[in-house]
Parts: sequence; C-alpha cells; structure tokens
Amino acid sequence: MAVTNKIYIKNHRQLASQLETSFPKGAFKGATLDILFSGEGLSKLDDATRDRVLDFAEDFMDCDCQANPHCGCPERKFVRYLLELREQGLGPDAIVDVMGDDYMLYAYPGDVLSFLDSAVRTLEAAEALADVDGQHDAAREVLALKQGLVR
Ligand SMILES: [Zn+2]
Repeated sequence: MAVTNKIYIKNHRQLASQLETSFPKGAFKGATLDILFSGEGLSKLDDATRDRVLDFAEDFMDCDCQANPHCGCPERKFVRYLLELREQGLGPDAIVDVMGDDYMLYAYPGDVLSFLDSAVRTLEAAEALADVDGQHDAAREVLALKQGLVR
C-alpha cells in the first residue's frame, strides 16, 4: 500500500467538529481532499489550522489537471516531500514531527521507515539495471540519489 494511504490528519475529530461535517482520517482520501482541503469550510477553522490546511493545498494540490485533486499529483508531490526530508538527514521520527508542524499530519514512524527502505531498494534496482545496460552515467546518478537517502 502506498505511503500516502498511511498519512493521517492530526486532531481529526476536532477538525471535523469545527467544519461541522465528517471526512475520513486519511489525508489523501478523496473526500478529505474535497472537504478539508478544497477551501469551502476554511472560514470555520481556527487560524492555526487554516494556515496549515492552506499550506497543504498550495504545496500539494496546485496542479492544473482537470481531475484535480484526484489526479495523483498530490500523492506524488507528497512522496517527493518525504524524500526531501530524508535527504536533509531526517529519520522517520523527525519526519513525522515535521509533517505535524508543517501540515498537521501524522504517520507511524514504522510506515515511514518501510517507505524509505523501499525507495532505496527501488533505486538499487534502477542502479543495477543501468549498470547491466552499460549506462554508467545513469548508474552514477542513481547511486548519488541513493546516498542522499541512506546516510
Ligand atoms: Zn494533477
């Protein structure tokens, strides 16, 4: 299961009561993207929550796809965000803390860890393939990406 299926809204019950409606706990569930992040109920949220909801919408839902926000871009951008935190040297616990501060989201550190492990394995497979193909420049690039994640 994709890591974005394991990202949850912090204070979910409190937010649902501020919005006077219910939506799923999963941040990337279709109804959560529609109800919480689409902007309609924003005026009902307290300031701190509203800022983070707006940040999330700006950072992950700003594409022009017709199917927005159900086009897959939010999930892809969030995966990129997780990898960037890892490249900055953060471990799973710190990554969970940062996503809480940035967007009022949480995940289980174990799920973040398995996501990072599988990202590294994917890069290792790509590196091996490029090597077999004789594409040594590509292999070196992949190796550099991987080193950014495992240090
Ligand atoms: Zn899109």
